[in-house]
Amino acid sequence: MRLVSVAVPVPYLDALTYSVPDSIPTLPVIGARVRVPIGTRTVVGCVIGHDATLDAATTPRDLVEVLDEAPFLPPDVVALCRWVAEYYMAGVGDAIMVAMPPGSKRASAYKTQRVISITAHGLSALEEATRKQREVLEILATAPAGLPASDLRDRGVSADVIRRLMTNGLAVARSAPDERDPFERSALQGVVRDATRDLTGEQSAALAILGELADTRAFHVALLHGVTGSGKTEVYLRLADRICAQGRQVLLMVPEIALTPSVAALFRSAFGGRVAIQHSALSDGERHDQWQRIRSGDIQVVVGTRSAVFAPLASPGLIIVDEEHDGSYKQDESPRYHGRDVAIVRAQAAGALVVLGTATPSMETYQNAATGKYTSVSLERRVLDRPLASVRLVNMRDEYAVDGPDVVISRQLTDAIDDRLNRREQVLVLLNRRGYATAVFCRQCGDTFECPNCSVSLTVHRARAGWRARCHYCNYAMQVPKTCRKCAAPYLEHAGFGTERIEQHLKERFPEARIGRVDRDSVRRKGELTRLLTQFGAGELDILVGTQMIAKGHDFPRVTLVGVVSADVGLGLADFRASERTFQLLTQVAGRAGRGEQAGEAIVQTLYPEHYSIQVACRQDYRAFFERELEYRRAMRYPPMVALINTLVRGRTFDEAMDTAAAMVRHLEPAASRVPFVILGPAPAPLGRLRGEHRVQFFLKGTRRAQMREAMKAVLAVMPDVRRRVTVDIDPLNVL
Ligand code: ADP
Ligand code: ZN
Repeated sequence: MRLVSVAVPVPYLDALTYSVPDSIPTLPVIGARVRVPIGTRTVVGCVIGHDATLDAATTPRDLVEVLDEAPFLPPDVVALCRWVAEYYMAGVGDAIMVAMPPGSKRASAYKTQRVISITAHGLSALEEATRKQREVLEILATAPAGLPASDLRDRGVSADVIRRLMTNGLAVARSAPDERDPFERSALQGVVRDATRDLTGEQSAALAILGELADTRAFHVALLHGVTGSGKTEVYLRLADRICAQGRQVLLMVPEIALTPSVAALFRSAFGGRVAIQHSALSDGERHDQWQRIRSGDIQVVVGTRSAVFAPLASPGLIIVDEEHDGSYKQDESPRYHGRDVAIVRAQAAGALVVLGTATPSMETYQNAATGKYTSVSLERRVLDRPLASVRLVNMRDEYAVDGPDVVISRQLTDAIDDRLNRREQVLVLLNRRGYATAVFCRQCGDTFECPNCSVSLTVHRARAGWRARCHYCNYAMQVPKTCRKCAAPYLEHAGFGTERIEQHLKERFPEARIGRVDRDSVRRKGELTRLLTQFGAGELDILVGTQMIAKGHDFPRVTLVGVVSADVGLGLADFRASERTFQLLTQVAGRAGRGEQAGEAIVQTLYPEHYSIQVACRQDYRAFFERELEYRRAMRYPPMVALINTLVRGRTFDEAMDTAAAMVRHLEPAASRVPFVILGPAPAPLGRLRGEHRVQFFLKGTRRAQMREAMKAVLAVMPDVRRRVTVDIDPLNVL
């Protein structure tokens, strides 16, 4: 019997074994898509091996159809997916699905798409339409040329609503070829690479070392540790030139393209049509197109987010992971892979060079550089000898003492903003918390508004129809009433503040200034983020208020002041990476100031001016931070000193979750003393309830990651019925 292993798109499932019937003469190759039966339906899966075995008692089912003669996914990408599934304990189908282009579950090429546009009747009916329909019509009204149906679906619009709009004559559909230039709608235009400019001495030295590593055509990892504004992008570009000249390809990974469009744009300008950009603003059809172009060998450079690590490049010679410390490289659903770490595994198989670029390396990466596992290259100065921004700390306790406890923006920061506005320079104001207020409470009885599904308080947002309280985890929302639900007293108050409140405060204080806000709420509408960043870049806004989204690798030369409203937002969290994140955020946001001709300044408001991650961020002294933080990680036995596995168990009741977790821990105990490793917990997760489910977690801590993983696998093998309620996170970034 001829057997094949097939990855199917079903969560948690390992590869399934099928037999190849006599009607199919040739064995399908690894990477080919096949149609296979599963239960009562058939699905499209991917052949991942010819090594399937079966015990004598099982009769495999026949596969139905082979869709590709040649591999659809390149075999090395299939191997990478198998590694991801194995390492992160995910179903192999989950991993394969990440690598597949959208639409590949269909057998035929995906070349046309349905475009929906609003009719004149739809425009005039906007006000009378039902709420659901109005939401969709409002989206459509912003796009006169129409929007692909897949884009609407991506935004949660159901096919049903679209159909109803069309029957009522409010919208029409047409079929359009799907070959738009993905750059059309983005801020990626207008940035031009100046290939003639001289490298700084540090850039040349870095390029020499990295170029030599690349030329060996052997696997290497290098950390490019360059302070903010040191010109890392130019080093990437020159290195990419070199690899392309060797006939190999380049993969540039970035945390989020919409947040750092200039890096993508520079690559686009340098490599023209030989660049493929994979980002979330593309429709399925566009992404599929780009994927096909990469697969066909048409492309030399791929720029993309974490899933681009699976791009079907034939012989990648260089993988750059820009801002390698960024948390968005870790996927927070299965497979819970880290794009940077998978990049390293891919490079190892391909004999490629990995360059990890950042001003604030993760503890893991810097430790690997410090111990010599990675080559370390640094850029210690900004280009053209521009100074780093100077940082001033404002102790908010002093402000409260003078101006009362309701102060949100200190006198120093207010004066500095005023000064920049007068000089026609630009200002960034960071507060890493969205919404208007963080809680509502009753002054009389103390009642607070908690989410009914999650153990968090609701965040207050300002809406057209008054105040709304919303859960940032499950999206539960309610109107904030005028009086207390419990005691009926009319004394409901807001506590805490977020970006919306800062925006309002600044608008009142500086009525002449043009102010924009960037956070997950303000940029929900597609294209809005790009629009705001473009406006700010073009000088059409004076102040940009926002969450960490404004702290990423932006290069706005006219920004001379960065204000941090509350540096302490992340410090209180029960997460061992809290200091690392705070340090990275402050250093990165301060790095946005003074990138042009005028020197920059950052003003940091804090309640804990003596905290070390705030102190060293002010000096922008990475090394001092690393050493201090490593001491703490060593003392507490946290990564990078040990490996960590987080297991989260969900249940309808707390007891159900706790009992399951306790049973798992009992099964793990023999291995824990044998390997050995430490088991911490089970204990209620910091976010004890989420979307109506109770959550209990436990950790494995030890130096033998592989054996720890094996032990976890063994437990799940003996308790298969709990698999769907258990999330195993290998090398977790968030432990909440
Ligand atoms: P980083 O990513 O290290 O923060 P960028 O790559 O964004 O820094 O570069 C910062 C700024 O310096 C950009 O505006 C870039 O155009 C400019 N720049 C880079 N290299 C040079 C150079 N050799 N000469 C002059 N300007 C440069
Ligand atoms: Zn909730």
